[in-house]
Amino acid sequence: MDTYKVIVDSGLPSGTRAIGCGCDAENTISDLTAIGDAILTPSDPSPAGRCTHCGCLAYAETELLKMERAAPSMLSALKQAELFMAGFEDCDAQEDMAALEAVRDAITKAEG
Ligand SMILES: [Zn+2]
Repeated sequence: MDTYKVIVDSGLPSGTRAIGCGCDAENTISDLTAIGDAILTPSDPSPAGRCTHCGCLAYAETELLKMERAAPSMLSALKQAELFMAGFEDCDAQEDMAALEAVRDAITKAEG
């Protein structure tokens, strides 16, 4: 196993919300303590520090993390919209069909 020295330089505002430690603490990234020793998984988000309440790793709440958390409900909503809009497929409204195609394209991209 390789080991690394960590320097945390998020470049984010100090008031950025910290999430993911698993307790109910309301931390910002400036509240967090040093990571110390940790096992990190390549491709997972990098932790910003440790929660001062529970000591677990915490992560900066970035737009990407917000989108990752919202992805399952967004995909579900798209599928519901597709079902609803497909009911109008026999109509002649071209704008509605363009919207339906956009929804289907988003679902295809989300599901790979
Ligand atoms: Zn915590």
